Amino acid sequence: MNKNITVLPGDGIGPEIVAEAIKVLDKVAEKYGHKFEYTYVDIGGCSIDKFGVPITDEGMEKCKNSDSVLLGAVGGPKWDNCPPAIRPEKALLAVRKELGLFANLRPTKLFPQLADASPLKQEIVGNGIDLLIVRELTGGVYFGQRKTEEVNGELVATDIMPYSESEIERIGRVAFETAMKRGKRLASVDKANVLDTSRLWRKTMHKLSGEYPEVEYSDILVDNTAMQLIKNPTQFDVLVTENMFGDILSDEASMLTGSIGMMPSASLSSGTLGMYEPIHGSAPDIAGMNIANPLGTILSAAMMLRYSFDMAAEADAIERAVNEVLDESYRTGDIMQEGCKKVLCNEMGDLVAERI
Ligand code: NAD
Repeated sequence: MNKNITVLPGDGIGPEIVAEAIKVLDKVAEKYGHKFEYTYVDIGGCSIDKFGVPITDEGMEKCKNSDSVLLGAVGGPKWDNCPPAIRPEKALLAVRKELGLFANLRPTKLFPQLADASPLKQEIVGNGIDLLIVRELTGGVYFGQRKTEEVNGELVATDIMPYSESEIERIGRVAFETAMKRGKRLASVDKANVLDTSRLWRKTMHKLSGEYPEVEYSDILVDNTAMQLIKNPTQFDVLVTENMFGDILSDEASMLTGSIGMMPSASLSSGTLGMYEPIHGSAPDIAGMNIANPLGTILSAAMMLRYSFDMAAEADAIERAVNEVLDESYRTGDIMQEGCKKVLCNEMGDLVAERI
């Protein structure tokens, strides 16, 4: 198969970790007889420096015209004081919107080899954590109207959180379909005791659940979810929620694994085009030192093969290779344990590629 991939290395450790994912993708292409062509586009701070904007119109067109997009990370202290309209993260919101990426899939997996890294007690994490958060990505308060105005002599800020039935239904469908492919359990997270958007959310999810009788469906309030993720995370299979709740809960969930550098994510559209990226940021504190963990990006590339290219065997091969490398006790600095072998970012990429 021939596939065109737009690569957005971005800032900080972005270029280092993306290079390792490409190394692994090239090995997959060689082994399975595919051809992956890469188009590189600047995004975030590096684009602001070159072009004055976090992504150019041409760059955006390249993303739209490709089969899939692989992203490193954007941002860093250098651009913290840019005006809001041209901040590095603006480019991410713009790409999500332009590509219609409304569903964000974030698996949270505690690899048994890294169980010690979890901040939770062994009796809580049990046989490992394996849950997936489906977050709505293009609606809600992050995209609603906002304003700051003077009222009665003081500043008042307002952010509106709109959700339509059709927006809820399409993310709900992704969540039910995902649950069908996993453990067939879905918890829908809302704040229906307070918010109108949540009441509509719950009503729409209930209607959908009638179409998926095999999925064991439940509602859970967002504040309770935040507690349950710490108290009993193994109870969850798939969680679905709106944009801001998902933003916060997925970061909380990723911390349960104790290794932010290991976590991949996928942002999907209604077609096969998707954007794949590790959940962490640009880690400016370790940028350029060749010590970043590339596994989150490598596992994101595996998700790209699975969800955008329908290459399940190839995706399995990457995930198996990552498992083998961990079994053989290779670790980057962030996940280093006593008795293990410490490797650099590029060495980790080599080790995974060799095992494809
Ligand atoms: P961060 O995720 O970049 O870093 C948090 C900590 O985790 C740091 O100590 C970092 O060294 C470490 N870390 C992160 N990824 C790692 C990896 N692969 N290997 C080893 N260690 C790793 O979060 P931050 O420090 O809050 O943000 C830094 C910059 O990244 C900010 O400008 C922020 O806006 C941006 N950011 C971008 C994205 C994105 O591009 N999607 C997401 C979050 C933050």
